[in-house]
Amino acid sequence: MTLQVLLVEDDGSVRAFVREALQVEGFAVITAASLSEAEAVLLHAPVDLVLLDLGLPDGDGAELLQRLRQKANLPVIVISARHQEAHKVRLLDAGADDYLTKPFSVAELLARIRVSLRHRGTAVAPAVTRLERDGLTVDLATRQVLRDGQPVHLTPTEFKLLARLVRQAGRVVTHRQLLAVVWGAEFTEHTHYLRLYMGQLRAKLELHPAEP
Ligand code: CA
Repeated sequence: MTLQVLLVEDDGSVRAFVREALQVEGFAVITAASLSEAEAVLLHAPVDLVLLDLGLPDGDGAELLQRLRQKANLPVIVISARHQEAHKVRLLDAGADDYLTKPFSVAELLARIRVSLRHRGTAVAPAVTRLERDGLTVDLATRQVLRDGQPVHLTPTEFKLLARLVRQAGRVVTHRQLLAVVWGAEFTEHTHYLRLYMGQLRAKLELHPAEP
């Protein structure tokens, strides 16, 4: 089961960094850059956890937390640059599950997410982040790919595709899912992208074409 995270953050670079990190770990990520965008997403998409920035262009994230707490028991982790103790306590009292002060590390974020989900009874399988097979080593955490001990250089898109395949190891993944995750929801019909990049990956990793 893929867990869906709603990331509410108006800073584009933080958004991109967190989204990428969570996708590598196998989460599906929907992003919102404002309170109104977040509210729209929450109306229409199933969300398992919310990462909530406080300073948003159309209001304070705390308002959304309050509204969420009135109707749903969704785990909410606040991510903010504000770090006064009183502020944290107020948010935790208002029902936030946890509070991360920016800047934070990916490892810390992932640990807090696992704890929050566990408290709600949602087990999160430890992420598959490393694969070793037939002379090929892929380490998603360090973004390292080795073929017979030699580093292989992959473009960002090739890496994203490989990361998805490693995460899905042993499970069926459709063309549409891969296209949506690596290129975006609007590219699900562009199967030629996938053929092209899969060909490049196979050539670089020297995978036997007969093997999936
Ligand atoms: Ca902000």
